[in-house]
This record gives sequence, structure tokens and C-alpha cells, in this order.
Amino acid sequence: QYVWIHDTLTPQEEAGVSFEDRGYYFGDGIYEVIRLYDGKPFLWEEHFERFTRSAAELDLPFPKPLENIKEDMLHLIETNKVHNGIIYMQMTRGVQERNHLYSREITPVITAFTKEEDVPSHLQEQGISLRAVEDIRWLRCDIKTINLLGNVMAKRSAEDNGCHEALLHRGPTVTEGSSTNVFMVKNGVIYTHPADNYILKGITRQFIQKLCIEKGIPFKESAFTLEDLRGADELFIASTSHEIVPVHRVSGTIEKTLPSRELTDELQKTFQERKLS
Ligand code: PMP
Repeated sequence: QYVWIHDTLTPQEEAGVSFEDRGYYFGDGIYEVIRLYDGKPFLWEEHFERFTRSAAELDLPFPKPLENIKEDMLHLIETNKVHNGIIYMQMTRGVQERNHLYSREITPVITAFTKEEDVPSHLQEQGISLRAVEDIRWLRCDIKTINLLGNVMAKRSAEDNGCHEALLHRGPTVTEGSSTNVFMVKNGVIYTHPADNYILKGITRQFIQKLCIEKGIPFKESAFTLEDLRGADELFIASTSHEIVPVHRVSGTIEKTLPSRELTDELQKTFQERKLS
């Protein structure tokens, strides 16, 4: 397996990054995870649009034109002959003697790897439980930065309490999962947190919104609270790696068993049809 580093394909065993990379010191960088179905990237342009936005928000310049970066990534995918899996790509600010103040003279470092990885169909079939925990992350969750400590802590806490994913809430308001967006279904309406600075605007979330508009399913970008969750019919999570996964139970700050998964299953079915078309 090859990885992308220093502007070239390199066997993974031989790849190394600098001790002084700002990604390592400060988590100063951004990333994307893109799915590949039958070797073909899914929602490719959308991911690169978000990557571009994250870069701009952090004052990170691309080291070469975006079109060339895309070609490099496709080259890696083809070389590794990924069938069903993901490509992970990240860009750190680059190498500089440790200093909070970044220099604009340094060149960002792009690295990427690919991985064969099936979609978690067992989770999609069985459903998962979520652990409700306080969202302690910073106030720019809309930027897809590699600085993920708040997410990492929440995920560990979920797992340690027998749950698959965290349900983050800021005070009473549900924001998202540790690596997923969260959707509540109540009386046939889907609710999810608005795409502001408190959540990452998921590419899968965007795609689900599009599917809902096409199918005439009411989709509201309107935040819901833990209290609202008490009367919920369904709950599901969505992300590039999970696609759509139903939630059957929430524990932690709130205890709730979800009585249904009907609309979730319908959306999952549509998603499966559309992802290959
Ligand atoms: N929220 C967070 C915090 C995430 O890390 C992710 C996964 N990147 C998502 C939502 C879902 O985003 P996407 O659908 O683009 O994978």
C-alpha cells in the first residue's frame, strides 16, 4: 500500500513526517474522509468544497492548485486499487520551529492514505445506542480540523459506557455525535441542528437533506433539545463512514428508548439506491 506524502506516492513503511510539523505540535491542520464505492469516489466535489472552506477559515494556503491535488488523490486511489473503502487526506500548516505564531512563509504538508473498509452493515441492521454527554468542544466545530480532542474524549466515554457513539449536547441543546451528525424524527418530521459554528456540516447530512427534498419528507434544520428527545419517534446518525445508522437507545444525561425506525430505514434504502447511481 502506498501513501501520499511529500508530493509523491511512497510505500507506507517508508513514509515519515517531520518532528516539527505543526500538525503534531498544535493539531494545526484540516482533513477529509471520502468514501469509495466500487472504486469511485462518492460526493467528491462536495468534500473538496468543504476542504477548501476549512483551509480558508484557518488561513491555510494550498501548496498547489486544487485541481492538481485532486489528481494526486485519484492517482493514490488508482494505485492502491481501492474497491470499497475510504481515502483520508489531511493538510497541516507545515514545518516550523515550535511557536504559537505561525509563519505564512511555510508550505502546508498534504498526506493521504486509502483503506479497504466495508460500510458497517451490522450497525445499520441492528442499530446502535448513544451516550449523551456534554459537548465541551471549541466554538468552531464547522471547521474540519485534525484537532479533535473533545470528539475523542466523547467517543471513549461512549464506548466505556457500552454505547457506539456519543450524543453531544451544549446544555439542553443536542448538537451532533463525536464523528457523526444526529437527526431526530418526530411526527414524520426530521430535525437536525442548523449548520452553524456548533456542528460540522456533514456531507452525508447534505445528501440526506437533498434526498428528503426529493421525496417530500419534511426536513428541518432546527435544533432540538434533550427534552424534545423524550417525545421522539426515531433517532439516527449519519456520516461518510456510517452512512445512515438507526439509534435504538440513548443513555447518560438522558435515558430514552426509541420506539421506531421506519423513516430511518426508508432513507437508508434510498441512500443505498442512490449511492451507486
Ligand atoms: N460531525 C463530525 C464531528 C464529524 O467528525 C463527521 C465526520 N467527518 C460528521 C459530522 C459527518 O460528516 P460527513 O458526513 O461529511 O462524514
